[in-house]
Amino acid sequence: MKKKICSIALSLCLVSSIALAPLNTTSTTVQAKAKKVKAKSVYYVPGSSYAYHSTRNCRTLRRSKTIKKITLKKAKALKLRACKVCH
Ligand SMILES: [Zn+2]
Repeated sequence: MKKKICSIALSLCLVSSIALAPLNTTSTTVQAKAKKVKAKSVYYVPGSSYAYHSTRNCRTLRRSKTIKKITLKKAKALKLRACKVCH
């Protein structure tokens, strides 16, 4: 009796995993696509700063005229550090 319940549970598990498998693949693909589109942007002042900012309204940027918008990946490639004020 116990064995039968076990096998039923197992087959249910298999069925649900098969049914969910294509769904899971689709959602991961969609998520990966969304990630690509939504590359995180940060702001930095070329030449005068070694930090990147999460917002261009950061108070340390108030006196800066040239604020460049770049991706977080690029900021890290430039060896910029996260600003302590706005991060
Ligand atoms: Zn900042």
